[in-house]
Amino acid sequence: MAKYIFITGGVVSSLGKGVAAASCGALLQSRGYTVHARKFDPYLNIDPGTMSPFQHGEVYVTNDGFETDLDLGYYERFLGARLGRSDSVSGGRIYWDVLNAERRGDYLGATVQMIPHVSNKIKEYISAPTNTDFVVCEIGGTVGDIEGKIFLESIRQFANDVGRRNVMFIHLTLAPYLEKSGELKTKPTQMSVRNLLENGIQADMLIVRTPRMLEPDERAKIGMFCNLPAQNVISGIDVDNIYKIPLAYDAQHVFDIIADHFGLPHAAGNMEKFKRIEHHLSADLPTVTIGMVGKYFHVPDAYKSLNEALFHAGIQNNVHVKIKKINAEEFAPESCADVDGILVPGGFGVRGVAGKIAAAGYARETGVPYMGICLGMQVAVIDFARNVLGWADADSTEFNKNAKPVIDIMAAHDAENMGGTLRLGAYPCDITPGTLAHSIWSAEHISERHRHRYEMNIEYEKEFADAGMIISGRSPDGRLPEIVELKNHPFFIAGQFHPEFQSSPYTGHPMFNAFIAAAKKRKS
Ligand code: GLN
Repeated sequence: MAKYIFITGGVVSSLGKGVAAASCGALLQSRGYTVHARKFDPYLNIDPGTMSPFQHGEVYVTNDGFETDLDLGYYERFLGARLGRSDSVSGGRIYWDVLNAERRGDYLGATVQMIPHVSNKIKEYISAPTNTDFVVCEIGGTVGDIEGKIFLESIRQFANDVGRRNVMFIHLTLAPYLEKSGELKTKPTQMSVRNLLENGIQADMLIVRTPRMLEPDERAKIGMFCNLPAQNVISGIDVDNIYKIPLAYDAQHVFDIIADHFGLPHAAGNMEKFKRIEHHLSADLPTVTIGMVGKYFHVPDAYKSLNEALFHAGIQNNVHVKIKKINAEEFAPESCADVDGILVPGGFGVRGVAGKIAAAGYARETGVPYMGICLGMQVAVIDFARNVLGWADADSTEFNKNAKPVIDIMAAHDAENMGGTLRLGAYPCDITPGTLAHSIWSAEHISERHRHRYEMNIEYEKEFADAGMIISGRSPDGRLPEIVELKNHPFFIAGQFHPEFQSSPYTGHPMFNAFIAAAKKRKS
């Protein structure tokens, strides 16, 4: 059976529980243990797919086509874990399951109650088999939230069911610094740990978010009030990059604390991959500028995975990547005068599309490296149809129902997906040997994640190819174009999928790595 680490948070929200959990997982991995991650969100939405990206940042998509919030991306990136539908569970989903079971008569007429019916359902999700040594479970929200109570009750029961030595509770809190008195205040942490204890949970380790390292006397004081050894009180100091956090925890012997709890031997970890990132961040390297032509810049984290993927590719190419945000609605060729590459990301709706088409056209004509993602591929196709093939009325039927439909809802995927709903999650793609795509992925069969409704219309393949835009990746049945590229261009490639969801900070993603390499070449 896997060992479980539960991460809760108190005092305030947004303390970075996800990154803390992922960092603890990374320390375990660095000692050779396998780790899976799960997230429980007490809110009542049934899944995050319907939650506004304006509140939650980007919609992250898993391999199994679950639309979730960007926290899952941290786990996948940090841990290389592949998460899915059963790893991102909301309160709403739990209640939905329980109430549906009640309607079906599964409870045989028993009175349906928070305990045991809801708590058992939560425990069912917690204990779903993972085949890993550890499962790191984050409990969303803040201790004291009404919605969160039943989740705390369930993890308390779970620890009692499987044995206290198989479960560790890590609690994140905040120690505010009072400028006036020059003091770090520990009372909110004490209150939060007490609040947790009221739910029957004794924290085994505290990560205290502070602007500076806790002094020994502060750790001793917190330990004394919170009923745990001072050495188990860790400073979660602010850092300028999240990949420094595993190193900061390692320096404070977090692995040894976890190992002691579970009765495992102390061991030094291999932290090289994090040291490499830390070193990259401060290294004196050239900077390439990528013009990102988008329209959601006012939403914090709207392009989270994309920004990450560009950063990862910079590490692989020994350059710093600067992202120049270009508002698609105000696009002018001059906006690209100082960029080394142009990236058009995904998007929905007609607003800003004209600027994106112009950006693709600018890259096509000037030889600036171009990478298109999803809508970024569709606009490259529309530009090519209008301005190279001379089809003035070419468009996506998303924007113009009467257009020459170079981008359309394709029957093939329509049938597969219940009539025009989003194509979501990982799909296989076959790559044509000898193409740029082939040299990028070094493979003929790849899998990338999707989130879109419209597709390039394969019926026009010949006209496009004859004029220089080829389909270099397609669905195995041959009906859905997945990658297009320009033959007579230094680097022009676009995919119908979202490669950013599979980029790793340790290896990058082939498509981004190649794009940044091309931008670096262009710059020099
Ligand atoms: N709006 C386009 C579609 O639905 C592109 C979506 C996207 O870029 N994710 O096909």
